[in-house]
Amino acid sequence: MSTQHSFGTFNRDSGSLTLQGATRTTGKLLASQGYVVGIEISGSGARQSVALADLEGKILYRTRRPLEYVPDTETVLKLIDDMLEETLTAERLHDTRVLRVGVAVGGLVDASQGIVRTLHHAHGWNDFPLQDYLAKRLDKPCIIDNNANAAALAEVTFGVASGSDSFSRASERVALYVGLGRGIGGGLVVNGKIYHGVSSTAGEIGHMLVKEHGPKCSCGNYGHLEAIASAQAISRAMIGLSVEHPETEAAIRRVTGARAERITAEQVFRLAADGDPVAQSVTQDVYQYLAIALANIVHIINPGVIILGGQVAQAGDLLTQPLQERLQDLCLKAATRSLRVVQGSLGAEANLTGAVTLALQDI
Ligand SMILES: [Zn+2]
Repeated sequence: MSTQHSFGTFNRDSGSLTLQGATRTTGKLLASQGYVVGIEISGSGARQSVALADLEGKILYRTRRPLEYVPDTETVLKLIDDMLEETLTAERLHDTRVLRVGVAVGGLVDASQGIVRTLHHAHGWNDFPLQDYLAKRLDKPCIIDNNANAAALAEVTFGVASGSDSFSRASERVALYVGLGRGIGGGLVVNGKIYHGVSSTAGEIGHMLVKEHGPKCSCGNYGHLEAIASAQAISRAMIGLSVEHPETEAAIRRVTGARAERITAEQVFRLAADGDPVAQSVTQDVYQYLAIALANIVHIINPGVIILGGQVAQAGDLLTQPLQERLQDLCLKAATRSLRVVQGSLGAEANLTGAVTLALQDI
């Protein structure tokens, strides 16, 4: 819903968009009047994707170029070029045009400046002006944001909290998204908008201290949430602890087809549910320290929903139910009365749908 006026105020108030050449509209555009493009970039190289979507957010075409190694900046930008060329064919666009491009980036992003501050696990991205770069290259207005922020907005707009029931209405007012992937990211949506904080680091909950003298984190510190509850931390802890337990080692070999290093967080939760004591000790740590982090956040922001995404959330009820119960124990009753802990419904598509949702903001 954008008018010339509201478009202008959005720009001024949030300072979060650089909309060179933006198409100003005086009402809601019809789906036939254009498309948006979503781009997903991860630091690890595992995910580079491009999607073409209509103005209702329906993805019409998507393409991916996953890599087995951590690519440099040039390689990623070239891949994006190739994917855009593949996606934006005259045949697919039918005389209509791309109105805006949204980019979900797996790193620290200064959304108000359109700059990638750092891309986790990758080099060469520090302070890269990705928004201006793509806007110039594509001659389209472009919006970049952190992938957890984008996924949060997508789950509220199109996913698990997008209905019109009271749960979804409360969720739209204050929703916390927690992406439990290789790292841990968080996104906060307040009144339907991403809350960025002063320098765009709001929601960086992976580096909350939850266990003094705990395991070493990717950032170099100790005892951070990411070092205990990320997909990578869970798999590592399981493999490390299994060394002294032949039965657990055998169980890991069984579920991974003898490739222990490939064990997923979801498999660890399932082994715990089946009674494996090592898996149970790993998952107990996840419940305990994730609940501590979330309880502290709940008392600050009083969310209507906590949406769990990323690979760890594939454990479904095995993760959400115990967490919901622990939060009820740890928090003031008034803070959790209308709080629900749910698995996101967009799954592995959350970041790419998030990029599309970024592009659709205020159209
Ligand atoms: Zn850390």
